[in-house]
Amino acid sequence: MEDIRVIGIRGLPLIRAGDDIAALICDKVTLHDGDILCIASTIWSKARGYTRNLSGITPSERAVRLGRMNGEDPRFVQAVLDASTDIIMEHPFILSEMAFGHIGVRAGVDQSNIDDGMVIFLPPDPMKSAGELHEEIVRVCGRDVGIIITDTCGRSFRRGQTGNAIGWSGMTAIRDFRGDTDLFGHVLKITEEAVVDEIAGFANFVMGESNNGVPAVVFRGCGTWAGHDNLYFRGDEDITKRVLKKEWASG
Ligand code: GDP
Ligand code: MN
Ligand code: MN
Repeated sequence: MEDIRVIGIRGLPLIRAGDDIAALICDKVTLHDGDILCIASTIWSKARGYTRNLSGITPSERAVRLGRMNGEDPRFVQAVLDASTDIIMEHPFILSEMAFGHIGVRAGVDQSNIDDGMVIFLPPDPMKSAGELHEEIVRVCGRDVGIIITDTCGRSFRRGQTGNAIGWSGMTAIRDFRGDTDLFGHVLKITEEAVVDEIAGFANFVMGESNNGVPAVVFRGCGTWAGHDNLYFRGDEDITKRVLKKEWASG
């Protein structure tokens, strides 16, 4: 890993349901084998139709209650509840878990970069989506590139949002340093680097938010690494989640 090139892909259209993301991207950039292609989850969801019209949503009693409590449209709240498998916090915003393991504010449901009255959901199975895009890029331009599907997420402990990886293909999420020795010969016991999040964070920086119009970023020269894909804590592994749920339940 010496010089890493980072290329924001400009000139993509507004994505609509049914669009062929791989073809649109390969038309704008010449990909090389070993590149890593990051795309904003929002365009994948728009292309695959993971969107809903608020006018077609009838809020439940719970959605009405939470909408009142958090100052949000109860139909939007219902969309968030529908996208969630476990509600960790209800107020001052909904923090919830999705089936694929991701925990996020408002279940990552967005009302930006789409027509008025519409909401965008995170892809329900982003790992599968990343695998599909991987295959589609091979089909369109014959290149073997790693894929990271990103979303802009808030985080605990620090102000500000950063890009996170929600799905990936062609690399492991984590680079495992356990068992390596440091510069002084100490054996590393706990260092697992969440590489896909680090790359997603920089991709998010290049994408920008709002109206930048750069929903895809290519990284060239990141090299390869070995590790595993257990990025999401499962069940009781997540101490923060356990404490938050207890706190919330006790009012
Ligand atoms: P998220 O982080 O996945 O929720 O996506 P954002 O809404 O923050 O968008 C990330 C980047 O993609 C920003 O630069 C947006 O302007 C851009 N973007 C979003 N949707 C589209 C689209 O349909 N077409 C194009 N060309 N850019 C888009
Ligand atoms: Mn988002
Ligand atoms: Mn974003």
